[in-house]
Amino acid sequence: MSYFLKRTENNLWHGKFSTFPEDLIVHAVSTRRGGVSKPPFDSLNLALHVGDEPADVLINRKKFIQSLGFGLADIVTPNQVHGDKIFRVDENWRGCGCANYADAIPETDALITDTPGLPLILCFADCVPIFFVDVENRAIGLAHGGWKGTLKKIAAKTLRKMNSAFGTQPKNCLIGIAPSIGACCYEVGGAVVDKCKAAFPKNHGELLIERDGKIFLDLWRTNVLQLLEIGVPEKNIDVAGECTCCKSDWYFSYRAAQKKNRDRTGRIAAAIALR
Ligand SMILES: [Zn+2]
Repeated sequence: MSYFLKRTENNLWHGKFSTFPEDLIVHAVSTRRGGVSKPPFDSLNLALHVGDEPADVLINRKKFIQSLGFGLADIVTPNQVHGDKIFRVDENWRGCGCANYADAIPETDALITDTPGLPLILCFADCVPIFFVDVENRAIGLAHGGWKGTLKKIAAKTLRKMNSAFGTQPKNCLIGIAPSIGACCYEVGGAVVDKCKAAFPKNHGELLIERDGKIFLDLWRTNVLQLLEIGVPEKNIDVAGECTCCKSDWYFSYRAAQKKNRDRTGRIAAAIALR
Protein backbone atom coordinates (compact mmCIF):
# COMPACT_ATOMS: atom_id res chain seq x y z
CA MET A 1 0.00 0.00 0.00
CA SER A 2 1.44 3.32 -1.03
CA TYR A 3 -1.47 5.71 -0.73
CA PHE A 4 -0.89 8.87 1.27
CA LEU A 5 -2.36 12.34 1.78
CA LYS A 6 -0.24 15.37 1.04
CA ARG A 7 -1.07 18.98 1.90
CA THR A 8 -0.78 21.39 -1.05
CA GLU A 9 0.38 24.99 -1.17
CA ASN A 10 -3.17 26.33 -1.51
CA ASN A 11 -4.30 24.41 1.58
CA LEU A 12 -5.95 21.41 -0.05
CA TRP A 13 -5.08 17.75 0.34
CA HIS A 14 -4.01 15.41 -2.45
CA GLY A 15 -4.49 11.67 -2.07
CA LYS A 16 -1.63 10.07 -4.00
CA PHE A 17 -0.06 6.73 -4.92
CA SER A 18 3.70 6.71 -4.35
CA THR A 19 4.01 3.91 -6.94
CA PHE A 20 3.03 6.27 -9.78
CA PRO A 21 5.93 7.91 -11.66
CA GLU A 22 5.83 11.63 -10.86
CA ASP A 23 8.01 12.45 -13.87
CA LEU A 24 5.40 10.96 -16.22
CA ILE A 25 2.05 11.92 -14.69
CA VAL A 26 0.24 14.34 -12.41
CA HIS A 27 -2.49 12.78 -10.28
CA ALA A 28 -4.55 13.30 -7.14
CA VAL A 29 -7.68 12.29 -5.30
CA SER A 30 -9.37 15.29 -3.69
CA THR A 31 -10.74 15.29 -0.16
CA ARG A 32 -13.81 17.18 1.09
CA ARG A 33 -11.65 19.75 2.92
CA GLY A 34 -10.65 23.25 1.85
CA GLY A 35 -13.60 24.31 -0.34
CA VAL A 36 -16.41 26.87 -0.15
CA SER A 37 -19.60 24.77 -0.50
CA LYS A 38 -22.15 24.80 2.32
CA PRO A 39 -23.66 21.72 4.02
CA PRO A 40 -24.44 19.06 2.95
CA PHE A 41 -21.79 19.75 0.27
CA ASP A 42 -19.14 20.98 2.69
CA SER A 43 -16.82 21.86 1.55
CA LEU A 44 -14.80 20.88 -1.53
CA ASN A 45 -17.67 19.47 -3.60
CA LEU A 46 -16.46 19.09 -7.19
CA ALA A 47 -19.67 17.88 -8.90
CA LEU A 48 -22.12 20.14 -10.72
CA HIS A 49 -25.03 17.66 -10.81
CA VAL A 50 -25.73 17.11 -7.10
CA GLY A 51 -27.74 20.24 -6.25
CA ASP A 52 -24.92 22.45 -4.98
CA GLU A 53 -24.53 26.12 -5.99
CA PRO A 54 -22.75 26.03 -9.39
CA ALA A 55 -20.73 29.15 -8.52
CA ASP A 56 -19.35 27.42 -5.42
CA VAL A 57 -18.52 24.26 -7.36
CA LEU A 58 -16.59 26.29 -9.94
CA ILE A 59 -14.56 28.01 -7.19
CA ASN A 60 -13.78 24.56 -5.77
CA ARG A 61 -12.90 23.10 -9.15
CA LYS A 62 -10.58 26.02 -9.98
CA LYS A 63 -8.81 25.65 -6.66
CA PHE A 64 -8.38 21.91 -7.03
CA ILE A 65 -7.23 21.89 -10.64
CA GLN A 66 -4.86 24.82 -10.05
CA SER A 67 -3.26 22.79 -7.28
CA LEU A 68 -2.34 20.29 -10.01
CA GLY A 69 -0.95 22.97 -12.31
CA PHE A 70 -3.89 23.30 -14.71
CA GLY A 71 -6.77 25.71 -15.33
CA LEU A 72 -10.52 25.07 -15.16
CA ALA A 73 -10.78 25.17 -18.97
CA ASP A 74 -8.37 22.21 -19.28
CA ILE A 75 -10.60 19.67 -17.51
CA VAL A 76 -12.27 16.82 -19.42
CA THR A 77 -15.08 15.09 -17.55
CA PRO A 78 -18.05 12.86 -18.43
CA ASN A 79 -21.63 12.36 -17.25
CA GLN A 80 -21.21 9.15 -15.24
CA VAL A 81 -24.10 6.73 -15.47
CA HIS A 82 -22.85 3.48 -13.82
CA GLY A 83 -22.35 1.95 -17.27
CA ASP A 84 -19.29 0.43 -18.91
CA LYS A 85 -18.66 2.83 -21.78
CA ILE A 86 -15.04 3.92 -22.13
CA PHE A 87 -14.16 6.96 -24.19
CA ARG A 88 -10.83 8.00 -25.69
CA VAL A 89 -10.22 11.73 -25.45
CA ASP A 90 -7.65 13.99 -27.08
CA GLU A 91 -7.02 17.71 -27.58
CA ASN A 92 -10.46 18.14 -29.24
CA TRP A 93 -12.17 17.33 -25.95
CA ARG A 94 -10.26 19.78 -23.77
CA GLY A 95 -12.70 21.69 -21.55
CA CYS A 96 -15.68 19.34 -22.05
CA GLY A 97 -17.77 19.45 -18.89
CA CYS A 98 -15.34 21.78 -17.12
CA ALA A 99 -17.93 24.40 -16.16
CA ASN A 100 -21.23 23.00 -17.41
CA TYR A 101 -22.71 19.57 -16.79
CA ALA A 102 -24.65 19.73 -20.08
CA ASP A 103 -21.51 19.69 -22.24
CA ALA A 104 -19.71 16.91 -20.38
CA ILE A 105 -18.96 13.76 -22.39
CA PRO A 106 -22.31 11.91 -22.38
CA GLU A 107 -22.93 8.60 -20.60
CA THR A 108 -19.36 7.55 -20.02
CA ASP A 109 -17.73 5.95 -16.97
CA ALA A 110 -14.09 5.77 -18.03
CA LEU A 111 -11.74 8.04 -19.97
CA ILE A 112 -8.44 7.14 -21.59
CA THR A 113 -5.85 9.32 -23.34
CA ASP A 114 -2.29 9.60 -24.56
CA THR A 115 -2.49 13.38 -24.97
CA PRO A 116 -0.05 15.20 -22.67
CA GLY A 117 -1.37 17.97 -20.43
CA LEU A 118 -5.02 16.91 -20.62
CA PRO A 119 -6.45 16.34 -17.11
CA LEU A 120 -9.13 13.66 -16.84
CA ILE A 121 -11.56 14.12 -13.95
CA LEU A 122 -14.22 11.78 -12.55
CA CYS A 123 -16.42 12.33 -9.48
CA PHE A 124 -17.16 9.94 -6.60
CA ALA A 125 -19.03 9.46 -3.34
CA ASP A 126 -18.25 5.82 -2.30
CA CYS A 127 -17.81 4.38 -5.82
CA VAL A 128 -14.33 3.15 -6.73
CA PRO A 129 -11.91 5.41 -8.63
CA ILE A 130 -9.48 3.30 -10.67
CA PHE A 131 -6.32 4.89 -12.11
CA PHE A 132 -4.35 3.34 -15.00
CA VAL A 133 -0.79 4.33 -15.91
CA ASP A 134 0.92 2.74 -18.93
CA VAL A 135 4.53 3.74 -18.42
CA GLU A 136 5.71 2.00 -21.60
CA ASN A 137 3.37 3.71 -24.08
CA ARG A 138 2.78 6.92 -22.09
CA ALA A 139 -0.97 6.53 -21.77
CA ILE A 140 -3.43 6.87 -18.89
CA GLY A 141 -6.95 5.92 -17.93
CA LEU A 142 -9.45 6.67 -15.19
CA ALA A 143 -12.57 4.61 -14.42
CA HIS A 144 -15.63 4.86 -12.17
CA GLY A 145 -16.60 1.57 -10.57
CA GLY A 146 -19.74 1.51 -8.46
CA TRP A 147 -21.23 -1.93 -7.92
CA LYS A 148 -22.77 -1.88 -11.39
CA GLY A 149 -19.63 -0.82 -13.24
CA THR A 150 -17.44 -3.08 -11.11
CA LEU A 151 -19.59 -6.13 -11.83
CA LYS A 152 -19.68 -5.14 -15.54
CA LYS A 153 -15.85 -5.34 -15.22
CA ILE A 154 -15.23 -1.76 -16.26
CA ALA A 155 -11.66 -1.93 -14.90
CA ALA A 156 -10.77 -4.88 -17.15
CA LYS A 157 -12.59 -3.29 -20.10
CA THR A 158 -10.73 0.01 -19.64
CA LEU A 159 -7.41 -1.81 -19.80
CA ARG A 160 -8.52 -3.72 -22.90
CA LYS A 161 -9.52 -0.45 -24.55
CA MET A 162 -6.11 1.01 -23.66
CA ASN A 163 -4.59 -2.06 -25.25
CA SER A 164 -6.41 -1.54 -28.55
CA ALA A 165 -5.90 2.25 -28.52
CA PHE A 166 -2.29 2.52 -27.29
CA GLY A 167 -0.90 -1.01 -27.21
CA THR A 168 -1.02 -1.10 -23.40
CA GLN A 169 0.10 -4.46 -22.02
CA PRO A 170 -1.40 -5.54 -18.69
CA LYS A 171 2.08 -6.42 -17.39
CA ASN A 172 3.28 -2.84 -17.94
CA CYS A 173 0.24 -1.09 -16.50
CA LEU A 174 0.23 0.39 -12.99
CA ILE A 175 -3.13 0.52 -11.23
CA GLY A 176 -4.30 2.62 -8.28
CA ILE A 177 -7.57 1.82 -6.52
CA ALA A 178 -8.40 4.99 -4.63
CA PRO A 179 -10.47 5.58 -1.46
CA SER A 180 -14.05 4.31 -1.79
CA ILE A 181 -16.50 2.31 0.29
CA GLY A 182 -14.93 -0.76 1.89
CA ALA A 183 -16.28 -4.21 2.71
CA CYS A 184 -16.51 -2.91 6.30
CA CYS A 185 -19.50 -0.73 5.28
CA TYR A 186 -20.82 -1.84 1.89
CA GLU A 187 -23.84 -3.95 2.74
CA VAL A 188 -25.65 -5.23 -0.36
CA GLY A 189 -28.97 -6.89 -1.13
CA GLY A 190 -29.95 -10.04 -3.01
CA ALA A 191 -29.93 -8.52 -6.50
CA VAL A 192 -26.30 -7.41 -6.14
CA VAL A 193 -25.34 -10.78 -4.64
CA ASP A 194 -26.86 -12.58 -7.64
CA LYS A 195 -25.09 -10.33 -10.15
CA CYS A 196 -21.78 -10.83 -8.33
CA LYS A 197 -22.16 -14.61 -8.42
CA ALA A 198 -22.94 -14.46 -12.16
CA ALA A 199 -19.95 -12.21 -12.91
CA PHE A 200 -17.49 -14.20 -10.75
CA PRO A 201 -18.80 -17.78 -10.72
CA LYS A 202 -15.56 -19.17 -9.25
CA ASN A 203 -14.45 -16.41 -6.90
CA HIS A 204 -17.57 -14.80 -5.45
CA GLY A 205 -16.81 -16.48 -2.12
CA GLU A 206 -13.98 -14.04 -1.47
CA LEU A 207 -15.96 -11.03 -2.72
CA LEU A 208 -19.17 -11.45 -0.73
CA ILE A 209 -18.57 -11.39 3.01
CA GLU A 210 -21.18 -12.53 5.50
CA ARG A 211 -21.34 -10.79 8.86
CA ASP A 212 -24.14 -10.69 11.45
CA GLY A 213 -26.62 -12.10 8.96
CA LYS A 214 -25.81 -9.38 6.41
CA ILE A 215 -23.82 -9.55 3.20
CA PHE A 216 -21.08 -7.08 2.29
CA LEU A 217 -19.44 -6.68 -1.12
CA ASP A 218 -15.68 -6.11 -1.36
CA LEU A 219 -15.55 -3.72 -4.31
CA TRP A 220 -11.78 -3.29 -4.02
CA ARG A 221 -11.08 -7.01 -4.35
CA THR A 222 -13.69 -7.30 -7.13
CA ASN A 223 -11.76 -4.75 -9.17
CA VAL A 224 -8.39 -6.33 -8.33
CA LEU A 225 -9.62 -9.78 -9.33
CA GLN A 226 -10.79 -8.74 -12.80
CA LEU A 227 -7.42 -7.08 -13.43
CA LEU A 228 -5.55 -10.19 -12.30
CA GLU A 229 -7.80 -12.22 -14.63
CA ILE A 230 -6.54 -10.27 -17.66
CA GLY A 231 -2.89 -10.49 -16.68
CA VAL A 232 -2.03 -7.49 -14.51
CA PRO A 233 0.59 -8.64 -11.97
CA GLU A 234 -0.61 -8.26 -8.38
CA LYS A 235 2.49 -6.18 -7.57
CA ASN A 236 1.29 -3.54 -10.09
CA ILE A 237 -2.02 -3.00 -8.30
CA ASP A 238 -2.11 -0.62 -5.40
CA VAL A 239 -5.20 -0.51 -3.20
CA ALA A 240 -5.46 2.60 -1.02
CA GLY A 241 -7.51 0.67 1.52
CA GLU A 242 -9.31 3.77 2.83
CA CYS A 243 -13.08 3.49 3.31
CA THR A 244 -14.93 6.69 2.40
CA CYS A 245 -17.86 5.77 4.67
CA CYS A 246 -15.60 5.19 7.72
CA LYS A 247 -13.65 8.34 6.85
CA SER A 248 -16.54 10.60 5.89
CA ASP A 249 -14.82 13.49 7.65
CA TRP A 250 -12.21 13.30 4.87
CA TYR A 251 -14.23 12.07 1.88
CA PHE A 252 -17.79 12.45 0.64
CA SER A 253 -19.76 9.27 1.24
CA TYR A 254 -23.28 8.58 0.02
CA ARG A 255 -23.78 5.78 2.56
CA ALA A 256 -22.53 7.94 5.43
CA ALA A 257 -24.94 10.71 4.36
CA GLN A 258 -27.81 8.19 4.25
CA LYS A 259 -27.04 7.14 7.81
CA LYS A 260 -27.69 10.76 8.78
CA ASN A 261 -30.96 10.66 6.82
CA ARG A 262 -29.56 12.86 4.09
CA ASP A 263 -30.07 12.00 0.46
CA ARG A 264 -27.59 14.53 -0.86
CA THR A 265 -23.85 14.92 -0.48
CA GLY A 266 -20.90 16.25 -2.46
CA ARG A 267 -18.39 14.42 -4.64
CA ILE A 268 -14.65 14.06 -4.42
CA ALA A 269 -12.71 13.87 -7.68
CA ALA A 270 -9.98 11.70 -9.07
CA ALA A 271 -7.72 13.53 -11.51
CA ILE A 272 -4.88 12.37 -13.74
CA ALA A 273 -2.90 13.88 -16.60
CA LEU A 274 0.22 13.02 -18.55
CA ARG A 275 2.97 15.59 -18.22
ZN1 LIG B 1 -16.01 1.38 6.22
